[in-house]
Order: sequence, then structure tokens, then C-alpha cells
Amino acid sequence: MIIKQAELETVCGITSKLPENEWPEVAFAGKSNVGKSSLINGLLNRKSLARTSSQPGKTQTINFYKVNGDLYLVDLPGYGYAKVSNEIKAKWGKMIERYLHGSKQLRAVFLLIDIRHDPSANDKTMYDWVVHQGFEPIIIATKLDKIKRSQVQKQIKAIKEGLNLLPGTKVIPFSAETKQGRDEIWEVINSLRED
Ligand code: GDP
Repeated sequence: MIIKQAELETVCGITSKLPENEWPEVAFAGKSNVGKSSLINGLLNRKSLARTSSQPGKTQTINFYKVNGDLYLVDLPGYGYAKVSNEIKAKWGKMIERYLHGSKQLRAVFLLIDIRHDPSANDKTMYDWVVHQGFEPIIIATKLDKIKRSQVQKQIKAIKEGLNLLPGTKVIPFSAETKQGRDEIWEVINSLRED
């Protein structure tokens, strides 16, 4: 995928009105530190358009990146900050629900899981929740370069079992270091926007 143009177009806080975009959207969810910013930068061939190494407690937002004028990558707030109060977590839950439920352009939700670790209870909750909203999440197993090649299939199996994935659910390993997986993710995105 050739990126001619990529820009952060809209940033939504907890009480913001969500944009009504005229182009397809694909969203990315995952716990904080899973590598979501690095993935978005990797997909967009940018070093630091999306922020990386987010600090716990930093302002959380839903960010809409417009790509080549006719697609949005949507960065959902990372979950799992221990330091964030339950009240804030609940507000964010509502905000994300409002987005998943309300967007007319959302074509798919990608859920990021660190390939080194078994999915957490929060990951499972997020997966079930996205399914409940009527989407079939696509899993991206991040930080592929951090494990040995011989471990990859075993870890993918652990993710499948840990999330109890629906049969046929795609799991795409990705490394922001080597960009392995980038083309496959773009293929999926491009196939979805044609539907
Ligand atoms: P976010 O909080 O989900 O946006 O996560 P970041 O993209 O900020 O990544 C968290 C940390 O993991 C940073 O130090 C990144 O450099 C590192 N990281 C992210 N993806 C990869 C990857 O594919 N390989 C390696 N080796 N490190 C990664």
C-alpha cells in the first residue's frame, strides 16, 4: 500500500461529538503498550504520527487518521491502565461503545494482542464486546520480532484459545521493527472497504 497522504484529522475526548465521516473506517483496539501506535505508524509509513510509548494516565482520545483522502484508521484508547479510576474506565467504555455502535462507516475492528503473552481478562472482555457489537474482530499479534520463529505457532494457538476465537478468525502476526505482516493487514483493510 502506497501512502500518499496521512494526517490526524479528528481527535475526540470523552464528551466529544463523534465525526460523521464519508469514507470507510477501520478501528484498532488493544491494551496500552501493546504496540498500537507503532502499528499505525508502520501502516502509514510514518515514524511518529501516532504517539508511541504512551504514559499511563495520559489524556485518552479516539484519533481519526485520514489516509490517501478516502479511508480512516481509527485509534481507540488503550485499555488496562491500572492507575485510571473506575469512573474514567466506565466513561471510556461508554464512549467506545457509542463509537462502535454509532459509526456508519466502521468496516472492521482490529484487536491487538502482544504475541509474547496469553490474552488477559481485559483482552477477552474487549473481544467478546466487539463481537457483541456485531463485528468479527481481526487479531493482530504484535511484537513478532520479540519471539523466536519456532515459538510463533504456539503463541498464535494460545491467543486463539485464550480469546476463544470464532472459527475462521484471522490472526496476523506483525512486527513494527521488521514490518512483517504490514502487507497482509493492508490486504485485509482493502478487501473490507470494497464490500
Ligand atoms: P501503544 O501504547 O499500544 O500505542 O504502544 P506503543 O506503540 O507505544 O509501543 C509500546 C512499546 O513497545 C514501545 O516502546 C515500542 O517501541 C515497543 N514496540 C511496539 N511494537 C513493537 C514491535 O513490533 N517490536 C518491538 N521490538 N517493539 C515494539
